[in-house]
Amino acid sequence: MTTTPALSQLKFDNQFLSLPADPLTGSSRRHVLSACYSYVEPTHVVNPTLVSYSHEVATQLGISIEECTSATFTQVFSGNQLLPGMKPYAQCYGGHQFGNWAGQLGDGRAINLGEVFTPSSEHLTLQLKGAGATPYSRTADGLAVLRSSVREFLCSEAMHHLGVPTTRALSLVTTGEDVVRDMFYDGRPQKEPGAIVCRVAPSFLRFGSFELFSARGDIDSLKTLVDFTIKTHFSHLGEPSVEVYLKWFAEISDRTINMVVDWMRVGFVHGVMNTDNMSILGLTIDYGPYGWLEDYDPTWTPNTTDASGRRYRFANQASIAQWNLAQLANALYPLIEQAAPLRKILSDYVPNYNQKISAMRAAKLGLIDYNHELYQGLDSLLQLAETDMTIFYRRLANVDIENDTLNDAQLFAPLMEAYYSPEALSSEDKQQLYLWLRQYQQVVLSEGSSNDTRKENMNKVNPKYVLRNYLAQLAIDDAEKGDFSLVNTLLELLRHPYDEQAENETYATKRPDWARDRPGCSMLSCSS
Ligand code: AMP
Ligand code: MG
Repeated sequence: MTTTPALSQLKFDNQFLSLPADPLTGSSRRHVLSACYSYVEPTHVVNPTLVSYSHEVATQLGISIEECTSATFTQVFSGNQLLPGMKPYAQCYGGHQFGNWAGQLGDGRAINLGEVFTPSSEHLTLQLKGAGATPYSRTADGLAVLRSSVREFLCSEAMHHLGVPTTRALSLVTTGEDVVRDMFYDGRPQKEPGAIVCRVAPSFLRFGSFELFSARGDIDSLKTLVDFTIKTHFSHLGEPSVEVYLKWFAEISDRTINMVVDWMRVGFVHGVMNTDNMSILGLTIDYGPYGWLEDYDPTWTPNTTDASGRRYRFANQASIAQWNLAQLANALYPLIEQAAPLRKILSDYVPNYNQKISAMRAAKLGLIDYNHELYQGLDSLLQLAETDMTIFYRRLANVDIENDTLNDAQLFAPLMEAYYSPEALSSEDKQQLYLWLRQYQQVVLSEGSSNDTRKENMNKVNPKYVLRNYLAQLAIDDAEKGDFSLVNTLLELLRHPYDEQAENETYATKRPDWARDRPGCSMLSCSS
């Protein structure tokens, strides 16, 4: 097939390249000083094959569906072919990992192809993940395996359709080459199929992009990058000045809060909230050992590396985000030189978060006003026995609040489906649940909302379909055998997570028992 026009007409303007560049090119591992990025080309792969693409992202970029299935598309988004205007580079950044400063990290396996203006005048960066070594690959290979690429591809699109701020994914290709990974770091390395995802976002800058310059005392480069970021991505705040830096930091804090509140709403656990994985735009970024809460356990973390400290557990995400913002504040301090206003923004984080999470929790319950006692009551009841968070909230909308002839068990009946082992509920547990439901009924009635409006509103915030850990694993199992149909089915399913989709009911069911302790379903390592 020949190159179709629009793909070659993607308009690249590469604004990031106006920032200081590493004078060296190529992928030799090095410390890069006083530069925001290094030029480096993707590594050629032997046999790229298209697994899937997101037609919404393609359309957004001005790439037609026909082009997505062209040979050129696969060549370009496997890194084998550069389009005119593409100038590939890897970004330099640092980060705090698990609470400790880790120094220079950088795009170890991400290569930015360039930045485009879309037909609707958005400005987006195209980035390949897994396209080979860069100066920032340290001791690793710059590659990505199919399993982690399927997870990143599907989850970024699923999150977008759930209404969670996120980087997007345009495409997923296999490379035709094997990648060796010791998945559980237990001395059993295995060959796995290699893959590349093309990620898309207005910017891939991270908290760690700013921290690195500050940690090195390179305040000139810090200022250059901050001013660029404000002018390019936060121009509504005005020309960079100390006052604008503070407004900017407050906005980053707000956006981060919005993102975390959404994670808490849908039951998403990022798994590695290191500062190098925190987007300056408040987008969910770097889908690694993330997971979805199935049974509601606020202490759960999917990341095996985090199993002992559980730093990144579900319930800790808001505090960690604040801790990460504090690291960013420290990094920005040399430009502001006033601790008090930075501290004020950091302490405002708590009431701001509380206000937003309360509104979100009220919405999940179908309430107009947040009722703390009611929410807290439910939070502990959901932990009495293994209760599927997604099913519980979705089904709560079906509880018939208006019918005062129902007995407790009848009122509760729609919720039984959420229990992994209903027999594990003691009669005392049930009494507590009934009591809660009666309180809930009263509060709902006192707000005067009908069954119908409550259900309609709740179904807009409580998804029916999420990328359950075992669903992603099933898609991976098939994909590793060369069958990509489930990847595509899930991509399509998760485009409408709030719709009933009666024909897809099976994807809304509880995690099956085989998946309870299976690697990839309940435990994930950083190896990817
Ligand atoms: P992560 O924990 O995935 O956010 O990665 C932390 C750092 O390690 C980042 O700088 C990554 O680019 C880098 N990294 C992770 N995996 C690889 C890999 N296979 N090859 C090169 N660099 C990697
Ligand atoms: Mg990362």
